[in-house]
Amino acid sequence: MIKGGGASTAPSALLLVGYGRSGSTIIGSALGSHPRLFHAGELLWLPRRLKDPERYCSCGSLLAECDFWLEVLDKLAARCGPRAIADLGRLSDQFDHRRWTWTHALRALASKSSEAAEHAALNLALYNAIAQVSGADTVVDTSKLPARALLLATADPVGIRIMHLIRGHRSAIASLKRKHKKDPRAGIPQDRNGRSAAWTSAAWLRRNLECEALAARTPKATFRRVRYEEFINDPKCGLSAVAEFLGIEPEAFSTKINVREQHIFAGNRIRMQGFLSLEPKTINVDHLPAHDRVIGDALTALGRWHYKW
Ligand SMILES: [Zn+2]
Repeated sequence: MIKGGGASTAPSALLLVGYGRSGSTIIGSALGSHPRLFHAGELLWLPRRLKDPERYCSCGSLLAECDFWLEVLDKLAARCGPRAIADLGRLSDQFDHRRWTWTHALRALASKSSEAAEHAALNLALYNAIAQVSGADTVVDTSKLPARALLLATADPVGIRIMHLIRGHRSAIASLKRKHKKDPRAGIPQDRNGRSAAWTSAAWLRRNLECEALAARTPKATFRRVRYEEFINDPKCGLSAVAEFLGIEPEAFSTKINVREQHIFAGNRIRMQGFLSLEPKTINVDHLPAHDRVIGDALTALGRWHYKW
């Protein structure tokens, strides 16, 4: 599906940041229903997932055989050379897939690291290649890593918009407690063991604190905070707010989404469902066991105080 046709003032990328299980796949997919936006999913995984022989794209193809991504890689190589995706993988390992990404990014910016600049330049070239192939103006990247958003927004303060997606810690605890059996075609690439309430709560707090540090370093006009529960309670209102943020027309969004027309290779397994419907609903996670609620509430108290819930 060829998209686009909008004014050239739209940002080149909208970066969703926040903790995992924040609903970025469903919200990214809804954003991708707009003709001027392309939902690319968790792009930080692209170099690694291209090497995975069992990785499926939401269009139904194996990722390594998906025509869309093959064309994107061709465009990227034409612009940045044949080693572009290998270099992107190396730099992504260095900046995106490591411990303490946030402090590493701060140090890289302070020292004017040439590798951080190259990491940003290659990612911006990737957005450009995706926009060329899809015809959209703005790429929606749901990588969620605040350090990555900091590096890219520093390199391109005009073209990057950032949306901090926050979902209540109890939802994250409930989601990460579940175990899953490997099923690549259903979007579960490996067996997953459940995480404890304490582990999830600590990780939730740390990631959201990094998002707050990112907000403090980002111009207000290019940063928005979105509460998942409020968005899902009234999706049309949520989509209109994003349209206003990006300067695009809100009427073109749809809440009935054909995910097979998108090319999402990483993120929640709902990407493999074919069709998604974004109906207004109220989130209820009070079914969590009492001890998980107590541990989660205690460990996330600082964040909940900040967000006033
Ligand atoms: Zn595909």
